[in-house]
Order: sequence, then C-alpha cells, then structure tokens
Amino acid sequence: MSRPNILYIMSDDHASHAIGCYGSRINQTPNIDRIGNGGMRFDNCFCTNSICAPSRASIISGTYSHINGVETLNDNFDGRQTTYSKLLQASGYQTAIVGKWHLGHGGNSDPTGFDYWNVLPGQGFYHNPEFIEMGVRKIRPGYVTDLITDDCLQWLEQRDTERPFCLMCHHKAPHRRWEPDDKHLRMYDDIDIPEPDTLFDDYANRGAAAAAATLRVERDLDNMDMKEPPPPGLSGRELTSWKYQRYIKDYLRVIASIDDNVGRLLDYLDVEGLAENTIVVYTSDQGFFLGDHGWYDKRFMYEESLRMPFVVRYPGHVAEGSVNDDIVLNVDFAPTFLDCAGVKTPDFMQGRSFAPLLEGNTPGNWRDAMYYRYFMHNAHGVYAHYGIRTDRYKLIYYYMDDPGPREWELFDLREDPAELSSVYGDPAYADVAADLKQRLRDLRAYYGDETDPWGD
Ligand code: CA
Repeated sequence: MSRPNILYIMSDDHASHAIGCYGSRINQTPNIDRIGNGGMRFDNCFCTNSICAPSRASIISGTYSHINGVETLNDNFDGRQTTYSKLLQASGYQTAIVGKWHLGHGGNSDPTGFDYWNVLPGQGFYHNPEFIEMGVRKIRPGYVTDLITDDCLQWLEQRDTERPFCLMCHHKAPHRRWEPDDKHLRMYDDIDIPEPDTLFDDYANRGAAAAAATLRVERDLDNMDMKEPPPPGLSGRELTSWKYQRYIKDYLRVIASIDDNVGRLLDYLDVEGLAENTIVVYTSDQGFFLGDHGWYDKRFMYEESLRMPFVVRYPGHVAEGSVNDDIVLNVDFAPTFLDCAGVKTPDFMQGRSFAPLLEGNTPGNWRDAMYYRYFMHNAHGVYAHYGIRTDRYKLIYYYMDDPGPREWELFDLREDPAELSSVYGDPAYADVAADLKQRLRDLRAYYGDETDPWGD
C-alpha cells in the first residue's frame, strides 16, 4: 500500500471553543468541520507548554521544552536536532513548510528537513507580509492567510506525484493583533456574540497568579487592539462587554478567512483525487482564552489555554464522525506522523504515537495523566508553573517566589469544570492532593525535568 500524504494545517492561538464541530457557541467553521466530521475529533489534546514557539518546537521534535531548548519565546530552535520532517524527508517524503515558523532565523534556526520552506519572519504581518523563501526575503501584496494557502497549492501543483508528501501549512492567524481581510471586515457587525460564563471572574478562591495576570480584556487590551478608543463614560462591566465584542469579532473574522482557505486546500485534494490517501490535520499551537476568566491570551494550565483543537481525516482508517477523549499531547504528533508513514520513532522522542487511537484502538496502557510546564515567568504577569492533569483533577504549582508566592492549586474538574475554586488545602481532598503530588514527581522524573522542585 502506498504511504499516506500528510497535510498538516496549524493556526496560531485558535481555541477549540471557536470551532463548529467542537460545539462553538460563537461561530461556525464549515470547512474545518469537513475534517472533523469526516474523521476524528480529539477532545483532550493538550499542549505541554502553552505558548507559540515552545509548542512549535515540541511538535516538530516530539520532545518537551527542556529537551528541545525552546522553553520561552526568547529561545530559538536549534535545527541540527532531529525532527519528524527530517525523518520523513530521509524516508522519501517530499517535505515543505509554508507560513509561520517562529523558531528563529539564520544561524542554526532556519527551517531544516524541508525540500521547500517559505516562512514569515517572526510573527509576520496580516497585510502585505514579508516572507523568507529558502533564505530570500520578499514583501508580497495580499492577505497573509490567502498567500500562505496560495503557496501551499502552488507547491502541491509542482510536486513529484510519484512520491508521498508532507506539507505543513502554518497560519499566522488568529494571533493578536487581529486584522481581518476586506472580505470579512463587516462580518458580525449586526449581532452580539454571546459572552462566556466567566467573563466577569473576580479571581477569588484561587492562588495569587490568576489575579496578577495582565491578560484582562477590560484592562489590558489597548486601543490598537480595539482600533478606536472606547466610548466615553464606559467603565466596569459595560467596558468589559464592549471590549469583548470588539475583540472577539475581530478574532472570529480572521478565523473565517482561515476556514475559507482550509476549504480551498480540501477542494484541491478532492479535485486531484488525493483525499483518499491524505491524512489531513487541523490544529493550533495552543488554546486561547476567549474572554474566559475575563482574559485573552494563553500561558496558563487552565483548560481553555491548555486544550488544543485536533481534528484528523484519513478515509478508510479513521471512522467518520468519531470522537476520542483520551489524553494526547503536542509531543505525540511527531511519533504519530512517523508511525503513519511507516518510519520508526527515535528513542529520544518523548511523545507516543496515537495512530492506534485513530483506528479506534486505545492501548490498555495509554497515559491517564499529562505533565505541563510554563517557563516564561511573569511575562504578561503570568507566573511560571508546572502541574499534572488527569481525567478528573488538575494540580498546579507556581514555583517562583518573586513576585508571587510559591503555591499550589487543585481543581476537581468534574465538580468545577470552569476552575473557579481551588480545593487545595481542603481536608476532603488531602488524599487526592498527596496522590497527585507523587504522580507529578514521577512524571517529572520520567521526562527528566527535575529543576525547580518543590520542598516538602
Ligand atoms: Ca500561539
């Protein structure tokens, strides 16, 4: 049997609760839903360090941040490392990446393991963006999401049809600051987008970190985000609601352009007869707060930020309309793609192939807990932390004592899915906390990440 093509589409900061097939209350995404409804939707896909560059490094290398060296936004990826694209390329795949790279440029940080690369410098621009095509910089007229898709289609068109391909289509959207294209500029003008239940969170009953974070829609989104100053006299909840509408509408408008462009790629596969033998993935480098807890942005181990959308279509192998709730991680993507391509996963990779899950067979020893660590202390006021999440509980430790205190949070996700009240210190949860601490210690040892341990 011929090896499958892989079309990996990843956006930047697209939370699953803004995707139709995940039950979004705020928008529709008919083309992303073609992937999800035509294949499998993962409901518990989690990021191991919820911020752009570190997640990208983990995805391509199959390792946690402390192994691949990209712990924060200030770290560049050393492209001499082995990545899944290098291994696919060596096994005969044609490989390409188009769009956002965000792992550094020049030296050892240009993309490696790709026959063709054409990426945005740094964050890139929405309108008339500059690209670096195989080392050559070029400013191009147009809208970034369209241009990335144009280039993906062009690369597919010129490929060798006798060999399989792996194409990584990496959108800049919907990263802040949100700039819609002309086509979607007036979308949602006449309606109000529903507000999340926790938009007016007061950060009570948790550690110090939540209240300290400077991610608030009401206070921390500025006039450049809003495109204009708020009406005079607005304050408090009224101001929060006004800013939320401005923010979320632009966020959803740039997503509408992504969805249109996902449709263009899927149509191409259909027309060219490639849909049957192509694994198509849509995901995002992490989740995002869509006004949840009164926030925008990510970083925290809380659900909206931790959870990544992940839908995958592979006709004949993945059942249409299937849903999986096992815990899968961004470090699993590399081993999974290698597995699907029949390439052995190297021992240093820390993720595990979830190819059996795609076929509906979860191994009995599949993980029942995941390890998370956010290193970028006090950026946007978010304190560095690590923790463990099981199917029911989440234990978080904020490990730096300046400016915030070192402290724990424990959430019972069954009783408190919105994570509004930490039960750490509650005697009723003493055994749960002790058990989770031991499991967290074990996971840190397993992954070889034992810096900044807590004292007892
Ligand atoms: Ca991101």
